[in-house]
Amino acid sequence: MDLSAGIETVKGVGPKTAEILKRVNLRTVGDLLYCLPRVYENYQTTVNIEDLRPGKVIIRGKISDLHVVRTSRKRLTLTQGVIRDETGAVRTVWFNQPYRAKQFDEKREYYFTGKYELKSGRYQLTSPSATLVQDVNNGTAATFQPIYSAKSAIKPQMFHKLLENLRPEFAKIPDLLPFTDGKPLFVKPRARAEALYNSHFPETPDDAEKGRDYLAYEELFELILAAKLNKQENQRLRAESLKFNAKFTQAVVKHLPFALTGAQRRATWEILQDLEKNVPMNRLLQGDVGSGKTIVAALAAAQATLNGHQTALLAPTAILATQHFESLQTLFAGLQKAFLREFGKKIRLPRIALLTGATKNKRMLKTAIKAGQIDLIIGTHALITDDTGFKSLAFCIIDEQHRFGVGQRQKLLLKSPDNTAPHLLAMTATPIPRSLQLTLFGDLDVSILNELPPGRQPITTKILAETEQRDELYPKMRELLAKKQQIYWICQVIEEKNSGTATPVKKQVKKLQNLFPQVKVDMLHGKMKPEEKDAIMARFAANRIQILVSTTVVEVGVNVPNANMIVIQDAENYGLAQLHQLRGRVGRGDQPASCFLLTTGEGRPSKRLREMEKSTDGFYLAEVDLKIRGPGEIYGSQQHGELNLQVANLNDTTLMAQASHHAGNFAKDPAALKDYPELSSRIKKYQQLTTLN
Ligand code: ADP
Ligand code: MG
Repeated sequence: MDLSAGIETVKGVGPKTAEILKRVNLRTVGDLLYCLPRVYENYQTTVNIEDLRPGKVIIRGKISDLHVVRTSRKRLTLTQGVIRDETGAVRTVWFNQPYRAKQFDEKREYYFTGKYELKSGRYQLTSPSATLVQDVNNGTAATFQPIYSAKSAIKPQMFHKLLENLRPEFAKIPDLLPFTDGKPLFVKPRARAEALYNSHFPETPDDAEKGRDYLAYEELFELILAAKLNKQENQRLRAESLKFNAKFTQAVVKHLPFALTGAQRRATWEILQDLEKNVPMNRLLQGDVGSGKTIVAALAAAQATLNGHQTALLAPTAILATQHFESLQTLFAGLQKAFLREFGKKIRLPRIALLTGATKNKRMLKTAIKAGQIDLIIGTHALITDDTGFKSLAFCIIDEQHRFGVGQRQKLLLKSPDNTAPHLLAMTATPIPRSLQLTLFGDLDVSILNELPPGRQPITTKILAETEQRDELYPKMRELLAKKQQIYWICQVIEEKNSGTATPVKKQVKKLQNLFPQVKVDMLHGKMKPEEKDAIMARFAANRIQILVSTTVVEVGVNVPNANMIVIQDAENYGLAQLHQLRGRVGRGDQPASCFLLTTGEGRPSKRLREMEKSTDGFYLAEVDLKIRGPGEIYGSQQHGELNLQVANLNDTTLMAQASHHAGNFAKDPAALKDYPELSSRIKKYQQLTTLN
């Protein structure tokens, strides 16, 4: 069977169907074969409604009383109904799926699969998937069935039908992976054909699992091989060698307003070594919030400047870019003064500029950048637009790199002069678990700041029900304000009308201003104009605002060391990584800091919040997060949505080690790839998606 044959060659696919399939990127026979079931349903495990227990359940029954409810939250609709079998009835709810109200025939029986849980004091079946009982029993495997996701206009039944048409041909699916170094566990002749067959037509849960095991291995092998090849290719690119001037760096470090931590020294040293090479650096600087990544980047940028080349620093928000600009300006000016005093002459430090959407005179600034009159240009997405050109961009720093997509990073990296690639330093406070480092980021070198600057006080974290605010929280706020310190107050939404149950920023500003008339309360949110945001942030940094009520626009990077309390309202609505980032806004100075996680007080606080209360260690929390959500969720949407990892479990270190070993051996002779054309084209795709250069 030719997997690259067009989708229209599949029996049952007419021109119209082909058109629809192509729209969701199903272009070839292979695409269809790799359109794997989302889950498997074991209808033998159906339970009676009277026997329901919380958790994932399958029930068989008829549905009635369907109706759609619009909630006060602007875009949220609820579709409610009642499912009945002989033993009882249960309420069911779908969110934002109004079509559900018209989907069902009340006279027919369906299998409903979903989560049975307690919500607002009542038990319900949440967002179940549904299949006509008749459809299941007509299938060949009556009670154990693959379930496909609907893709736009294509119904799951369509996949069943098309795959059924292909079924006789499965035996002819060619092998994909090379049989190098003996026989890796999952790679034997016809392994792929069997695995795909088992995935689409399993008779038992065991079949399905066996199929998935091989396919997971295949995915991991491809990913790891792509990463290894990227690394090899990266080694072949040429970058400017930025000579390390030890005397200069030592002098700069000596005149900094603080002593570097050991971790900062190590990381700086690793980076400066890399910059000297004439192959592009590809390094991730990973350090928890507040660990002092910026200064490390600044020292590296100074080395680039000294070598006569330009550096670009890309930040995800204008607030952050502005703050970097201001703090580096202060830093370099301070250094310059110190040098003048000590040696009676100036040294060559970066001339810096800020480029954001709000920058006036963009044209003039861009001309100056192009002419090489700016050494370090700090900016947001405005930096990567097509009309921003450099004279000699040799070094790119990407702050909070997880905020950027692959395409955005590549656009910046392409701005270096022809035939060279810039050195890349990506910075993040969101630790990349080891498992992902091996695969997606296998071509990255990593420096870790595992030490906070000295004098940092611990951040105390406390979960608090809103009803306890008056007694527990306000007195602490008063105390802190009396010490002339400042407070962040985080709300989820801006205005009442889209707020649902969450408290909006505007309302909270009024409330807090009434409660604390002696201080200035103000707000910050994403809908404000960039200049307004900058102005508010500047006033907060100057302590002319004492309580800043804000949405999560302050989430990343913002640094106001005098702010020592953060209150996160409706804390249950945030993810663990986000809560940790938000909390990282405080405890950046030498005063004790606190974080309050406000909840509505209904039910027991979630595991996320309890973990937040227990630990301030970002690496630990990232592992917890990975366990709670899985890597797909964390890294899926932002950067690797395109990767479309279907089966691989990036937590499976044993499988990963095997695949890594196998891929490593194969990568020793990349020319061999040409004997594997299908593998080769799949790897190419992965390479493009995972590479940074
Ligand atoms: P992050 O790693 O979260 O980006 P920053 O680079 O914003 O952290 O640094 C946080 C704060 O710590 C800044 O105010 C910075 O000036 C300060 N800082 C950085 N390194 C040190 C150090 N070695 N000693 C004292 N303060 C430091
Ligand atoms: Mg930062």
